[in-house]
Amino acid sequence: SGDARVAGIASSIRVIPDFPKPGIMFQDITTLLLDPKAFRDTIDLFVERYKDQGITVVAGVEARGFIFGPPIALAIGAKFVPLRKPKKLPGEVISEEYSLEYGTDKIEMHVGAVEANDRALVVDDLIATGGTLCAAVKLLERVGAKVVECACVIELPELKVCFASNKLIN
Ligand code: AMP
Repeated sequence: SGDARVAGIASSIRVIPDFPKPGIMFQDITTLLLDPKAFRDTIDLFVERYKDQGITVVAGVEARGFIFGPPIALAIGAKFVPLRKPKKLPGEVISEEYSLEYGTDKIEMHVGAVEANDRALVVDDLIATGGTLCAAVKLLERVGAKVVECACVIELPELKVCFASNKLIN
């Protein structure tokens, strides 16, 4: 994005090398949250992009999608649905497995939270391989929702603040 706010957002994110293990450049968005202007600008940029797209549900991916998703949902008048790690949601769930560097992981969604006529935005803090967002998109599509886009603050490997279109993710 050519928006002047993006540089401020990018510079508010702290990078911690070798966390949680050697070789990982961890993008720490907790420092973005300490900067009220950067946090507000981040939410505003998403809201400006998504407010007139008929989005009825914002689905946030645990855990950092729970930070950025709800303020976007409130601002655009959509419901918020958490996509959670296994065994956290108390009701009936559907789940989607996805592969990690080593092994697999899973995310779950409450049955009935999203319906076939819903138009969805998926939110997370960061896209690396796209595996997590891809699993989220599958969950929503399995219940018949239309995924309008996936939104994240950071795209790897080049660090840049971005909006990831779901077209990038297969
Ligand atoms: P992926 O499924 O490969 O796209 O990984 C994205 C998920 O892993 C997101 O939920 C991120 O929060 C987390 N993640 C992956 N790599 C990093 C990183 N370098 N810094 C911070 N979070 C990361």
